[in-house]
Amino acid sequence: MKKVAILGSTGSIGRSALAVVDAHPTRLKVVSLAAGDNASLLAEQVARYRPEVVAMATGEGIDRLRSACGAGSPTVAGAGAAGLIAVATHPSADIVICASAGTAGLEAVLAAIEAGKTIALANKEVLVMAGALVMAAARRRGVAILPIDSEHNAVHQCLHERPRAEVRRIILTASGGPFRGYSPEALERVGPDAALQHPTWQMGPKITIDSATLMNKGLEVIEAHWLFGISADQIDVVIHPQSIVHSLVELIDGSVIAQLGVTDMRLPIQYACSYPERWDGSLPSLDLARAGRLEFSDPHLERFPCLGLAYRSLRAGETLPVVLNAANEVAVGAFLERKLGFMAIPRVIQKTMDAHTAEPVSTLQAVRRADRWAREYARDAARELELTV
Ligand code: MG
Repeated sequence: MKKVAILGSTGSIGRSALAVVDAHPTRLKVVSLAAGDNASLLAEQVARYRPEVVAMATGEGIDRLRSACGAGSPTVAGAGAAGLIAVATHPSADIVICASAGTAGLEAVLAAIEAGKTIALANKEVLVMAGALVMAAARRRGVAILPIDSEHNAVHQCLHERPRAEVRRIILTASGGPFRGYSPEALERVGPDAALQHPTWQMGPKITIDSATLMNKGLEVIEAHWLFGISADQIDVVIHPQSIVHSLVELIDGSVIAQLGVTDMRLPIQYACSYPERWDGSLPSLDLARAGRLEFSDPHLERFPCLGLAYRSLRAGETLPVVLNAANEVAVGAFLERKLGFMAIPRVIQKTMDAHTAEPVSTLQAVRRADRWAREYARDAARELELTV
């Protein structure tokens, strides 16, 4: 029986993770849960999974949780960063599923690594912001970082412990988002409602916008570099609108290994939980004849500059990926509030990156400093580009 801690249990990945627990009640047991703000759903999860401890983002959220749970109130580990760390380092947890949104999960993941927990990682910011720190800590503690993101999970399956010297390149697939094929003029006019319609995956608003700008793929390129120890030049992106091929690995002899499957996050989550074993799935088989045509094309870098900006930040290294990520969050927030146009998102990020003086990512403080600076700078840059309504 593997004991599971879930950071971000009420989000889309967290709910899928609990569905995996439901499918394997004799193999997986929930010991701790952390949620952001959704007290009523966390109360339902508490009643169903009986975790030993829980945490929420704020004390006010915990008050709502307690009144929703009544007599069945769980032990609360705390609020904010301290609560998240307590859930992630719960003594009986074997595996920590990190699916909390944004940058809050960083300290919690580092604490879980120090505590020797296996990390099942869905949160992109952890490796984008602090890949050097996280991977060094994982190596030092002998801890496995298993990616839950469908593309990296696919690469992990294709690599299958193969020596790096045998790998020529990694090919990440991208759906291309809802605006694949749009003209530059049409892209200037798209708003949040159209951008939130993702063709193949159901996800939260931030990652759905990131899929539309291709920044999501850019962040995944950076993650792939850290997870698999592969340079930017060995990571390619191909547009694959059907999202059936989740990613590929090309070996030095020219052979290409791909991982395919239905578009359902329960599959990569279950793989991370079962690894190195395979468990019988609760998912339908992939019906290739029904999937029909599988298409592949190059990404349009001029129309979707965020992907190029991500490569640039990875090649420059140091704190530049931190700045890319922070400026993107600010710009996407402004876009969702209808204050910024779609094509102004990469402009805000580029302006912020151009103005940044990079420093090495040697401490978490350096990461936080660059993150704070970039958010402030990007907010000003976004205000300058703001739409006049
Ligand atoms: Mg992905």
